[in-house]
Amino acid sequence: MLNKKSVDDLQVKGKKVLVRCDFNVPLQDGEITDESRITAALPTIKKLLEDGGKVILCSHMGKPKGEAKPELSLAPVAKRLSELLDKDVVFAKDEVVVGENARKAVAAMKDGEVVLLENTRYRKEETKNEESFSKELASLADIFVNDAFGSSHRAHCSTVGVAEFVKESAVGYLMEKEIEFLGNAVNNPKHPFVAILGGSKVSDKINVINNLLDKVDTLIIGGGMAYTFGVAKGGKVGESLLEADKVDYAKEMMAKAEEKGVTLLLPVDTIITKEFKNDTEFKTVSALDIPDGWMGLDIGEKSRELFAAAIKDAKTVIWNGPMGVFEFENFAGGTKAVAQAMADIHATTIIGGGDSAAAVNQLGFGDKMTHISTGGGASLEFLEGKDLPGVVAVQDK
Ligand code: AMP
Repeated sequence: MLNKKSVDDLQVKGKKVLVRCDFNVPLQDGEITDESRITAALPTIKKLLEDGGKVILCSHMGKPKGEAKPELSLAPVAKRLSELLDKDVVFAKDEVVVGENARKAVAAMKDGEVVLLENTRYRKEETKNEESFSKELASLADIFVNDAFGSSHRAHCSTVGVAEFVKESAVGYLMEKEIEFLGNAVNNPKHPFVAILGGSKVSDKINVINNLLDKVDTLIIGGGMAYTFGVAKGGKVGESLLEADKVDYAKEMMAKAEEKGVTLLLPVDTIITKEFKNDTEFKTVSALDIPDGWMGLDIGEKSRELFAAAIKDAKTVIWNGPMGVFEFENFAGGTKAVAQAMADIHATTIIGGGDSAAAVNQLGFGDKMTHISTGGGASLEFLEGKDLPGVVAVQDK
């Protein structure tokens, strides 16, 4: 159980509550292309409004690097949020975030009203967690609620610093849900516990592999990172993704798996091409015998069967990272097979955000999973066994 104050522990009637959300949604030509992060924030916002709070929302969007970049304004989020809540969302359009518009809007708020501040990363202090901006944010509110799971691995003003300068702080429902699902899966799993890791780089997931080997029964490694393990096994990987300086680490992890009695599954076959594109000649070969001039872009049919068989008997499955270049239709088959295998079982199935979440949703398996995390980086740090600064900063119960 999370030992932090939650929204249910607060008395918010008549109080100003600053809520850090993760509204970092993808935009194309000013239109939101995936609003799942906005809908994920609604339960907390609705609860605070129903209880008569004055709800001031804030978030970052993209990486404006301390400048007011109009294309990264939260204005489209204000519009969509207002439709989803079926009430006015006053957008405080201040380049300095906490400026005249924000102060006026907040001063005029009645109970049950909503104000959204501008992109917190318009301020250069934000990502440095500088006290000055934390204090400005805190000056707007009595209470701080952190519901931005996707940003909770970053110590910024709006996720960490601000908590110190308000009277009370709590975590929101989304944060609680993420931590409950990820925490239970990792620290209190029903066995057999299978973790599947993919994506491009071993170096991004070093600590995740190490930490999970202490907990899982089976670790499946696919995607671009598998070729470094292939070389560690003495294989030839042609032009496939390879981190030569991580081969020794891969060997160490294989030894650790053996020592711990963990089954480490690697691809046995792979689909190779000469060019990194969708429409090109491809064929399947042994994962350990890729000819020069060819590169592996997906796991082969035998690997899919091998991985699906391991997933079939699992009671808990966690997945982070695609099995191949799923953005190309011809090389999405391995990722799809893993998503299908997870969708087919009666078990706790958790998708660790980022590309795997996008892949699962894109392939139409979204509603078949127990939990799809909204935070890629944050869920990875969680899987590494790290404390998330955005959670640590909130008051204990
Ligand atoms: P990551 O950001 O590390 O989770 O990696 C996700 C990216 O890994 C996706 O964009 C995939 O296209 C890429 N990826 C997965 N498998 C391969 C592969 N075999 N070769 C190159 N890129 C890959």
